[in-house]
Amino acid sequence: MDLPKEVETTNLRLSAGTAMYLNLMNGGALEVPTTAYLMIPGDVCRGRCTFCPQARGDSRWLSRVSWPEFDIEDMIGPLTESDLQRICLQCPDVPGYEESIVATATLLSETGKPISISAPPLSEETLVKLDGIIDRIGIGIDGATDDIRASVKRNYDPQVFWDYLGRAISHLGPNRVTAHFIVGLGENLPQLTLGAYRAVNAGADVSLFSYMSKENGPDIRYYRQAQIASHLLKKGRSPSDILEMLLDHPEELVDIIAEGEMFRTQGCPGCNRPYYTTRPGQEHRNYPRALKKVELDKIKEDLSLV
Ligand code: SF4
Repeated sequence: MDLPKEVETTNLRLSAGTAMYLNLMNGGALEVPTTAYLMIPGDVCRGRCTFCPQARGDSRWLSRVSWPEFDIEDMIGPLTESDLQRICLQCPDVPGYEESIVATATLLSETGKPISISAPPLSEETLVKLDGIIDRIGIGIDGATDDIRASVKRNYDPQVFWDYLGRAISHLGPNRVTAHFIVGLGENLPQLTLGAYRAVNAGADVSLFSYMSKENGPDIRYYRQAQIASHLLKKGRSPSDILEMLLDHPEELVDIIAEGEMFRTQGCPGCNRPYYTTRPGQEHRNYPRALKKVELDKIKEDLSLV
């Protein structure tokens, strides 16, 4: 396979779970991916986001997942033959990242899988080059407020991600862009709800990530409230209505919770990110599959609904 010259390296990183699922690495996991998570390798990410190991030059890790490297040629076949529903190609902010993304996505489009790109802001020119190659874009808004974003994404103007979200939506159309928010960076529930509301109002889908420091993450009750708020925003409920229900009338949540769909990983269709923010054996923050009754009962308990 002749690789385009822009593809500087013949290697790509795969999340460990994806590599195991494609039998490119030994081992297995209880929770399996329904999307293939790939990453363009780079040295130190210029983003310097405080919550990310890539900012410290350790490109083997993203969130709490390890990302071993493989030759692209060894993964195209297994990806094509797999039942994975999507490819999510991630890329750190490194020199030439836009060219690498276009070349790599073009190559990966041979698999026939819908492709999502999760990367720093892309120029209009690059978005045009990706037409017909990619399906969706994921954008790291991350911090729910401008102040929080400025404090954790120090090398970026806090507005640059909202501007990019607007450009990506006008280029791809509504509900083909996913706004990533990290829960637990110091925001409170109203701030998170209003941040997510701004994204939904702009035509984006919302995907929540639980901030996990070495010790633990945000309070589980707060995280469940954040998931419910995000879900209800997509259902067209107003932020004030949602907050009043979550804070003053939680009894109204019993019917809304139902099968617990909102506690599953949200984002691009087919994205489930197993163990992205929780260790095996820990209670999932984002469930990578339908919940079991015992798991739903635990959530109702955490929300004081039983
Ligand atoms: S929602 Fe999932 S598939 Fe989509 S960009 Fe984000 S991580 Fe990737």
